[in-house]
Amino acid sequence: MRMVFECVECGAHYLPPEGMVYPDGPASPVWCADCQAAKRAAGLREDPLLARVALASARAALARRAAEAEPPARSDVRPSRPPASRRARSGPGGVRGKLA
Ligand SMILES: [Zn+2]
Repeated sequence: MRMVFECVECGAHYLPPEGMVYPDGPASPVWCADCQAAKRAAGLREDPLLARVALASARAALARRAAEAEPPARSDVRPSRPPASRRARSGPGGVRGKLA
């Protein structure tokens, strides 16, 4: 599953390639392909700290999505205890009552 990033420039969500590398160079975790190209043309580089934070949050979001996609654990769908039968409800106390 690929990580989803949110461009800090235009707010668009984008999916860089799995290896974070475009055919023409490394993908940025903070800018979408369009904004990255524009920034590069303007001679700007991404903030390394911002890039690290963006990468970490994208990884966390990916882990969350992976966890949600998994079927619930078996112990969670365990049926509740079956209702007590008539026989089970009448214990020794009931028998004693009848005998007295
Ligand atoms: Zn953008």
